[in-house]
Amino acid sequence: MSLKNAYLKSVMEGLKARNGHEKEFLQAVEEVLESLEPVVEADPRYEQQNIVGRIVEPERAILFRVPWVDDNGVVQVNRGYRVQFNSAIGPYKGGLRLHPTVNLSVIKFLGFEQIFKNALTTLPMGGGKGGSDFDPKGKSDGEIMRFCQSFMNELYRHIGPDTDVPAGDIGVGAREIGYLFGQYKKLRNEWTGVLTGKGLSYGGSLARTEATGFGLCYFADAQLHDNGQSFEGKRVVISGSGNVAIYANQKCTQLGGKVIAMSDSNGYIVDENGIDYKVIQEIKEVKRARIKTYLDYVPTAKYVEGCSGIWTVACDIALPCATQNELDEEGAKALIANGCIGVFEGANMPCTPEAITAIKGAGLMFSPAKASNAGGVATSGLEMSQNSGRISWTFEEVDAKLKNIMEGIYKACADAAEKYGMKGDIQAGANIAGFLKVADAMLWQGIC
Ligand code: GLU
Repeated sequence: MSLKNAYLKSVMEGLKARNGHEKEFLQAVEEVLESLEPVVEADPRYEQQNIVGRIVEPERAILFRVPWVDDNGVVQVNRGYRVQFNSAIGPYKGGLRLHPTVNLSVIKFLGFEQIFKNALTTLPMGGGKGGSDFDPKGKSDGEIMRFCQSFMNELYRHIGPDTDVPAGDIGVGAREIGYLFGQYKKLRNEWTGVLTGKGLSYGGSLARTEATGFGLCYFADAQLHDNGQSFEGKRVVISGSGNVAIYANQKCTQLGGKVIAMSDSNGYIVDENGIDYKVIQEIKEVKRARIKTYLDYVPTAKYVEGCSGIWTVACDIALPCATQNELDEEGAKALIANGCIGVFEGANMPCTPEAITAIKGAGLMFSPAKASNAGGVATSGLEMSQNSGRISWTFEEVDAKLKNIMEGIYKACADAAEKYGMKGDIQAGANIAGFLKVADAMLWQGIC
């Protein structure tokens, strides 16, 4: 699909001219703009005030040096990023990613997605994202700590509980958040809820760890039910084995599904008896080992080298929970050929545009990440509320709020799609509903 509306087309062309090499960022923007044609045509203010031209430009992008000393005494240097994309509806909010593939394009695509995702949660959070090309794989605890401290030595001057509240993403979990928080507190000499995903002993929220995976399943369940289906008795394939994938496994198993395949960046496992999330949790979170070691626990399972083949495993429901552009057209075609009924995104932008076209074209259910993986950041919002109120809710309270938020997001997307003549198109509905909230706030706040 290409843009027909002259205003949106000119915004996209201008963006391409200025950021031609930022392919992930341009992909994320184009995907949103394609849904906004009926919206800008229905209300001339978006064009008059150039809301779209402003929303695609980050308010601020910070790029910094991160020097640290490895265990051999060698001085290493990485590049740090924080893109503060949009603060119309709240402080910048979004995770930090540590992965060798991180560059400005990746952080901008993630920050851009975060604007609409955060708006969909209904909580007052703007959009931002950050990270570094540091590779945590194979690093010792000491190296991770020294890197995180050095990263915070610069980041602390740009963030704060009412300014910008980072959290985890790929490569940043409880351990890294702890080191980042400790350094922030030391530098500022103040205890605040400046990061989310904190440990439970120092201000973290119960259910934050599980939230993205649980939220994905609550969302998928709502969409499945709306289409006369459920997880009950379904074969589920989940790519990835990080935080999102592990807890998506736990929740969809509780909802009656059977998870038969999971992966990491080396390969995937297939276990026809169903993969117990606790085993993956031990392999990944305790041992920090490769998914291949699943065979030590379940010798009857199968391991296949290379992760992209996971979509050829016959399933009813696919939950891509690994990383961007992991499910391409070929993967989508394999899913369709095997009778899959729905693809629900758990990672950020895991499906390529061609894959989405194939999935939707074949009539499968599809949910975009900015809606279906919003449970993590939504629960970060609940962590912020608990921190500023100096209170803490029980697991059940947070989980119930999360479920409520995810069902609300599904309804908001479905309603927006219907209102703009695209009934059932949850992808378009998510873009429209997220955009309308932020755009309305920007209209109120003038040209700034
Ligand atoms: N990294 C997560 C996301 O992509 C969570 C961000 C947060 O909790 O701030 O939404």
